[in-house]
Amino acid sequence: MLDYHLHLWRHGNRALDATLEHVAAYCRQAVEAGVVEVAITEHLSRFRQADAVLGGWWDAHPDAGLRRAMRSYWETEQGADLDRYVEVVLAAKAAGLPVVLGLEVDHYAGRMHEVAELLAGYPFDVLLGSVHWLGAWGFDNLDIPTFVAEWDSRAIEDVWSDYTRALEELADSGVCDVLAHPDLCKITGRVPAVPDEFHARMAEAAARSGMAAEVSSAGLRKPVGEAYPAPALLARFVALGVPLTTASDAHFLDRVAERRGELAALLADVGCEALQGYRRRTPYRVPLAAPVGGPRTPPDPDE
Ligand SMILES: [Zn+2]
Ligand SMILES: [Zn+2]
Repeated sequence: MLDYHLHLWRHGNRALDATLEHVAAYCRQAVEAGVVEVAITEHLSRFRQADAVLGGWWDAHPDAGLRRAMRSYWETEQGADLDRYVEVVLAAKAAGLPVVLGLEVDHYAGRMHEVAELLAGYPFDVLLGSVHWLGAWGFDNLDIPTFVAEWDSRAIEDVWSDYTRALEELADSGVCDVLAHPDLCKITGRVPAVPDEFHARMAEAAARSGMAAEVSSAGLRKPVGEAYPAPALLARFVALGVPLTTASDAHFLDRVAERRGELAALLADVGCEALQGYRRRTPYRVPLAAPVGGPRTPPDPDE
């Protein structure tokens, strides 16, 4: 198994320092759970370097209440240094820990070229692409009342339609490698009566972009109570040959590799025999039967 979606910091206003010990503890916990490699994938939006380029992206949204809520959320999440983060994860990797350097990148509508420019100078192994926001609506943030209330003012088909269009744009931008929590729009448990059309579009977006799809236990601890993606969507990914990663989306140590057994069962149900890992944005095959501690993954292409 892989745990290819890990955050060093919980959400909210807090000290955002990265240390080698922190990364090492994540690796220990993961290896004990049978994970062969982890990716540290902090949110791009937490870094000052992202704020400098993208801050205020919500200003064009027509709803003043959502704009205010998004500004406030963005500001409480801010403050980390991307250079320091990269340095620490690379140091852990150089020390032989089973970790790769990643980032969770949001969909910034119409601005993915700026995101690509911002990230171009860094030696990332893997970039997750996520849709957390529809305009200024942070639809998956169930801690902010303004965002939660917005669910009641929209038809569920409209939410899924907007989400799917954003996911297609994100995939077609070519900026990221893996679609994180691909059907995040189901988070509250509200699902269209017939989600097939949306599932088909999500799977096709992954397939035509060459992206992998993430199988994540995070949905199991949300109101929907189901891993991302739903079994029907997972089957579509597999049918189209979309490679898979696995992930806990942990934001603290105790969640690293959480509920990996349930993910393994989902993969077995669709006959998946290998996951996809990444080195310097280049994919490689990770057999699901790979023993803990080896075989070690291939070197960077430029090593
Ligand atoms: Zn996410
Ligand atoms: Zn995440």
